Amino acid sequence: MPRLTAVNRLLRELVARPSINPTFLPGQPELTGEERVAEFLAETARSAGIEVRRQAVLPGRKNLIARISPSGKVRERIMLTPHMDVVPAPGSAFRPKIRNGRMYGRGTCDTKGSVSAFFSAFLDLARKGPLPRETEILFVGLVDEEFGQAGSRRLAEKGPVGDLAVAGEPTGLKVVSSHKGNLWLRLKTQGKSAHGSTPQHGRNAIAAMGPVLDFLFDEYPKILARKSHPLLGSPTLSVGKIIGGTQPNVVPDECTIDLDRRTIPGESEASVKKEMVKALKAKGIASPSFCLSRSVPCLPLDTDPDLPLVRSFLRAAGKRKPTGVPYFTDASPIATGGTPALVFGPGNIAQAHSDDEWVELEQVERAHAIVSRFLGSLS
Ligand SMILES: [Zn+2]
Repeated sequence: MPRLTAVNRLLRELVARPSINPTFLPGQPELTGEERVAEFLAETARSAGIEVRRQAVLPGRKNLIARISPSGKVRERIMLTPHMDVVPAPGSAFRPKIRNGRMYGRGTCDTKGSVSAFFSAFLDLARKGPLPRETEILFVGLVDEEFGQAGSRRLAEKGPVGDLAVAGEPTGLKVVSSHKGNLWLRLKTQGKSAHGSTPQHGRNAIAAMGPVLDFLFDEYPKILARKSHPLLGSPTLSVGKIIGGTQPNVVPDECTIDLDRRTIPGESEASVKKEMVKALKAKGIASPSFCLSRSVPCLPLDTDPDLPLVRSFLRAAGKRKPTGVPYFTDASPIATGGTPALVFGPGNIAQAHSDDEWVELEQVERAHAIVSRFLGSLS
């Protein structure tokens, strides 16, 4: 077997440090929390003479901010911002295995491949130079991407703000400038309960939900198809959960459904609700009550592909144009905080969160080369 390159040796070290998002797995400190990964990166950075600080986000969970200063005055700031948490997996998934040019293990693809590629390029720059004259480079390891994006939201709120951020996700080395936003809506129909033997004395809330579901499955997709974004296509809706009633002999007085509505730039929570109410009304369907079942906004990302730094990143990646993806990332909260953001990294999203997660070693090496090329192109 050929010897691993430095970037893949670092990846193996990172995967071997479990960092499951603790929200998914409370009470298992030996597998959860970003601290093992963050401290390992912090130590490695410090030993290369890089300044490191931590940003408190949640109890025991802190973003890592490492900084390389330019040789002259700071006029521009680039932030490499991959996340350090992973989704749950058994302990054995944190013993990385290498087979057929791939590394297997939890986080190889989502997104320690990106952490390793970004951090290696960052470290190389500090060790070997040449340092940019006017651009400050930050490596920001974020916590909590997989649950509530508390790390990127804190960064957006407290700073620092930069001229470009690159969030790490397995984009297969494509440069992503747009992604959809995400709204979780709950719709509720109200009825009147009665004994199951005398249903005529009640109003069945499940029956009232019937036409709403017909509308959502048959009519609403046509309304969504009329809207489109050049990189993202049309918004989508998925009905993910339904609850109604308590037992067979009681006429249900309440039925709720939970919706996952993926938005495109220009859409908001308010505009989506208005659109649904209007369309339901036009169909003569008694409007169910709405509420948002997740209160944090997950807005779409729509970074201007013509920004000079975006052009430079595309050039470094050997791409002419950026791409859009349907999934939500840390890039959106970061962009909301005032830093234009891209998404980029090795691996395929199809392997993210899967039981059999892997990344191609060669893609991690290429991601490292691309980020190095980009950092080398800064003034
Ligand atoms: Zn991820």
